Parts: sequence; C-alpha cells; structure tokens
Amino acid sequence: MKALQDKIRQDGIVLNEKVLKVDSFLNHMVDPQLMLEVGQEFVKRFEGLTFDKVLTLESSGIAPAIMTALTLQVPLIFARKHKSLTLQDDLYVETVYSFTKQVHNEITIARKFLAPGERVLIIDDFLAYGEATFGMARIIESAGATVSGIGIVIEKSFQEGALKLKDAGYRVESLARIGSLAGEKVTFL
Ligand code: 5GP
Repeated sequence: MKALQDKIRQDGIVLNEKVLKVDSFLNHMVDPQLMLEVGQEFVKRFEGLTFDKVLTLESSGIAPAIMTALTLQVPLIFARKHKSLTLQDDLYVETVYSFTKQVHNEITIARKFLAPGERVLIIDDFLAYGEATFGMARIIESAGATVSGIGIVIEKSFQEGALKLKDAGYRVESLARIGSLAGEKVTFL
C-alpha cells in the first residue's frame, strides 16, 4: 500500500535492525485518515469473504482494526492484556510472549463475545514472530469460531511470523512488508 509505505519512509524511526518505531501515526499519535485507508484496503484485499467480527489486541491494533470493522459494518473486539490474572471462568485466556517488551502477557477475551461458527478477521499493527496473532487465533479456535483471515499493517518479513502463519494454513494480507531494517534504513520487499 503506497500511502502507508510513504508514511513509513517519511516518519518511521529505525530503532535498531529489529525494531521500527511508528509512534507518530500508528502507535501513539494516530493518523485517522491513513487508518481509514488501511481499513478500506484490508476490506478490498479480503473481498469475497464474509466476516462476522474483527479481532485485535489492545492497544496498538485498535486504530486500524476499528476502521476495518467500520468498513465491514461488523463489531470489533480487542483482546485485553494482563500481566497476571487469576483464572476466571468467563474468559478465554492465552499467554503471549512479546519480543519487543520481553514479557509474557496474558491476553483475554470475554467468552460472551465469541460464538461457535463465527468467522473472524484478525487485525494487528505489526507482525514479527507471530506470537500475538497465534495467541488470538488459539482463542478464536477454542471458541469454535474460525480465523477467516489475518490482516497486518506492517509485516517484518525477516522475522518468522508470516511464514509460520502461512505454514499453519492461514491467509495473511500485509499492507507493508519490510525485508530489512539494516543500515538504519527501511527496505520494503
Ligand atoms: P509478534 O507477536 O508477531 O512477535 O509481534 C507483534 C507485536 O509486537 C505487535 O502487536 C506489536 O505491538 C509488537 N511489535 C513487534 N515488532 C514491532 C516493531 O518493530 N515496532 C513496534 N512498534 N511494535 C512491534
């Protein structure tokens, strides 16, 4: 997606060879017009499929996911992150490791918001090793619902998440695919 690539080139900050900072339009301050275009682009890429719900992970996935849900005219659920949690019967809980923050998070979704047979579109801001996305997929599947697609705003293709998700049989659509962050430079595939 050209507008997204242009924005990443212009405003993205390469922190090191593994991490890109995009806090001026996605992760802290948010560019609503760009997010709307991101949502519309996801809907275009998944044209022909039907979704009942969009699922993301708080907080950085919410901006692109709400625009996707608005365009699809379906509800958005955001999984919540908790550091530690005493198990509650009314929640789905999965443990997800964050390589950027180096912590394990428990992500939770209230059982009442996911029903068997529902077709769910997962949206996230970044795809690195696939931990967050696989965690959300495990919750969807344990609810008896289906992961009908995965939409990623920025895929770091040099980390293995995209390959692992595709190997697991999921359809992944990434709007920007980064081949390298070497030399303090973003190189798209
Ligand atoms: P994964 O779970 O695929 O390993 O990593 C994806 C999650 O980690 C995303 O939800 C995102 O919040 C965070 N993340 C991974 N890589 C980056 C990065 O380069 N920049 C930022 N800002 N977040 C990242």
